[in-house]
Amino acid sequence: MTIHGKVVAITGASSGIGAATARHLAAVGAAVVLGARRTDRLDRLVAEIEAAGGQAAATRVDVTRPGDLHSLVAMAVERFGRLDVLVGNAGIARTSPVADLDVKGWSAMVDVNVKGILHGIAAALPVFRRQGSGHLVTVVSTSGLKIVPTQAVYAGTKNAVRTLLEGMRQESTDGLLRTTSISPGYVRTELVDNAVDDPAVREQARQTMADLGIDPMAVARAIAFVIDQPDDVEIGDLTIRPTRQG
Ligand code: NDP
Repeated sequence: MTIHGKVVAITGASSGIGAATARHLAAVGAAVVLGARRTDRLDRLVAEIEAAGGQAAATRVDVTRPGDLHSLVAMAVERFGRLDVLVGNAGIARTSPVADLDVKGWSAMVDVNVKGILHGIAAALPVFRRQGSGHLVTVVSTSGLKIVPTQAVYAGTKNAVRTLLEGMRQESTDGLLRTTSISPGYVRTELVDNAVDDPAVREQARQTMADLGIDPMAVARAIAFVIDQPDDVEIGDLTIRPTRQG
């Protein structure tokens, strides 16, 4: 089965890359099940997708709460009969030099970016196993490929997920599970809005995103591409960044 008719759950679907992915996948024939904390945005997105003739459902998901991921997966199975793909996209960034000891920010990034993915895996894997197939797509980052000052911890969380997926790939040579890490570079989203407290630094980051960042729809198309492969083809890693990014 290619993308048409697949059931895809997406975390962090209320904005940016997740929302674009929901719109695009629904437009090309997938049924999408959306999770995030801002349910007002999710409800509007579901209405928009349905008005365009697509299939969508949404539930409140805080990825730091394991039960919320189980509810997301259960919703996919109840509404659409199965879950073919989980897109682990929800993420936060807090940027500062390690020496600033933003312990709260580190902890939040580990909780959302790493443990949030693990909770999704714990919810989805039993369903994938029961069905005999499944695909785990995670949104990591080029930050993990080229480590720049102020992003060490963020990059570490993204590389933890990359490592996790490679380990799962090694454990799943029976063909049951496909794993894909998508590494975007600068993408024009709300991610930078909460990345730093200093208003001047934040404004600078926003400006960089506005000048250089690609449209989230570009990442959505990349995610569609990896999902759209035949069952015996796994795209393991995909990097997508602005042409002008260093
Ligand atoms: P946004 O800030 O626009 O989107 C982040 C999404 O994550 C939101 O939908 C937010 O929803 C959700 N989220 C945050 N915390 C939680 C939580 N505890 N539980 C559930 N959902 C949560 O940024 P992006 O679209 O850019 O980010 C998407 C992913 O892409 C992230 O993993 C990010 O690290 C990654 N990325 C982004 C890049 C960029 O340049 N923008 C570059 C490389 C990677 P809500 O607040 O409603 O819960």
